[in-house]
Amino acid sequence: MNENTEKQRCLIIGSGPAGYTAAIYTGRADLKPLIYQGIQPGGQLTITTEVDNFPGYPKGITGPELMEDLKAQAERFGAETRWGSITEVDFSKRPFICKADDGKTIEAESIIIATGASARWLGIPSEQEFMGSGVSACATCDGYFYRGKVVAIVGGGDTACEEATYLAKLASKVYMIHRRDEFRASKAMQAKVFNTKNIEIIWNSRIKEIVGEKQGFMKSANGIIIENVTNGESKQIDIDGLFIAIGHSPNSDIFKGHIDLDETGYIVTKPGTTQTSVEGVFAAGDVQDHHYRQAITAAGSGCMAAIEAERFLSSVL
Ligand code: NDP
Repeated sequence: MNENTEKQRCLIIGSGPAGYTAAIYTGRADLKPLIYQGIQPGGQLTITTEVDNFPGYPKGITGPELMEDLKAQAERFGAETRWGSITEVDFSKRPFICKADDGKTIEAESIIIATGASARWLGIPSEQEFMGSGVSACATCDGYFYRGKVVAIVGGGDTACEEATYLAKLASKVYMIHRRDEFRASKAMQAKVFNTKNIEIIWNSRIKEIVGEKQGFMKSANGIIIENVTNGESKQIDIDGLFIAIGHSPNSDIFKGHIDLDETGYIVTKPGTTQTSVEGVFAAGDVQDHHYRQAITAAGSGCMAAIEAERFLSSVL
């Protein structure tokens, strides 16, 4: 075995609430789990503001703080967290072979996949053109740049509502563009939007184009062209920034062809378990859950995966 190859009993891929909870449980079971954190260490909660619904925090907690706490708790029980991503897997036999972007090859007796999901984009060309120059998918990261300015946010879920109220504290005005005439966000989140004076909701509308100034490499978005989907009318709205908050896609690309995925890319698990189509490979959190998608349900399934991995290992080793 060369020096870049390591043997592990349990490899955890991903570091959101599911990955860290799996690490806490497998760590306490003395499996000495190794976590590859992925391109967004701490996962989606690191780009969220207040988390008010994670049990145990009566006053709420910020997403980054919650994730730091979970990481510290996992490390307390012997988990090793590592920067970097797993880029290639071979689940055809055990030990499973996983290659990482730091040049390491991990031979793992069990695997917990907790790679989560990533922000979706509208898919219009001008979105890519003005990305980082007026277009963002993270209000918490970029909202600060729009203090006193006019912004728009697209989407009608909890993320869009949460980010709209966050932005409303910084920006002078927030347009909320939604393609239907009602939000899918929770009633509590909707109420916050409806009660915020500087948020104007534009229903039944889609963004056709993002416009802006271009001078050489310098670009800056300054408007959106929206179309009312009920009557086809278009109009331009002047804005300084646009935030996209239209949901997420599962981060499962590297597992295609290695385990069963559903038609939208979510990992398929046996009902009531975290067992994937390959014995010894478990999946937890948003990468296998398109229904609940909450930090606490991700954490719960991370716990399930850890218990199942431990039982699997004691049955085969
Ligand atoms: P959702 O999938 O819940 O909502 C996505 C929104 O974007 C929908 O309103 C959808 O419209 C709209 N949308 C999707 N695709 C497009 C498109 N191409 N063009 C225009 N609009 C589009 O995603 P969220 O990220 O909001 O939430 C994901 C999960 O995370 C949910 O379960 C949510 O409850 C949870 N969450 C919880 C929070 C909390 O409790 N603090 C905070 C944030 C998220 P339509 O409604 O028409 O389908």
